[in-house]
Amino acid sequence: MAERPYIVGNWKMNGTRAMLSEARAIDRAAQRYMKVEVAVAPPYTLIHAVHKEAEQIGIGAQDCHSGAEGAHTGDINASMVADAGAKFVILGHSERRQDHAETNELINAKIESALEAGLRVILCCGESLETRDAGEAESFVLGQLRAALPIFQDPADRLTIAYEPIWAIGTGRTATAEDIAAMHRAIRALLDETFGEDVSAKVRILYGGSVKPDNAREILAVPEVGGALVGGASLSAENFLGIVVGASEAEEV
Ligand code: PEP
Repeated sequence: MAERPYIVGNWKMNGTRAMLSEARAIDRAAQRYMKVEVAVAPPYTLIHAVHKEAEQIGIGAQDCHSGAEGAHTGDINASMVADAGAKFVILGHSERRQDHAETNELINAKIESALEAGLRVILCCGESLETRDAGEAESFVLGQLRAALPIFQDPADRLTIAYEPIWAIGTGRTATAEDIAAMHRAIRALLDETFGEDVSAKVRILYGGSVKPDNAREILAVPEVGGALVGGASLSAENFLGIVVGASEAEEV
């Protein structure tokens, strides 16, 4: 891995203030694993509180609106999450694409607005099982990225890609090391072509999909993998830290 591995927890629609003790435990432990960059994306309602607790870990949001302020009841834009203490935002997660019919074009607009607001971006991509079984996983994922990657702003070191096969999210199934490596290579080639090799080299490509303490080391030892986006296992400090330890061990191999 070119840079420190990046381990990001996505709490999804989980967590009340009772979860702040988990955030504190993650933050304290992260200070012992400085070779790993650790971050958490709590729900909007906890961003400020987790930000105030955290000394070491990065805090992010799980989504943001693409626009400036205005009449959009219930929405939160990029400047607002930055103001609450978020340093990054996860965009294009498959659950947002599915539950909120988010298109690649909308995700692209969100990315431009997040970069404009000074946030780092984790752009998610990934295919369904039907697409993989049809032999179209690579072309599908590259198509998602081509349509969503920022055009107007050079992302420099503020972009991360998360490859998350939909069929591996929350299911206990993970892709094989060979499949992960092959997809990450294809994504890297696209980044090289789009931004040039110097900028591309600063973009980490994470894997996501049922990463747990017992499989983290193997997945993170795949040379193409720059870290992990973790859903379910990030809700407990103990499990999440097991993954951070796996990343630290994989780094030493
Ligand atoms: C995710 O939703 O980003 C994810 C990877 O979830 P899980 O780890 O629970 O599969």
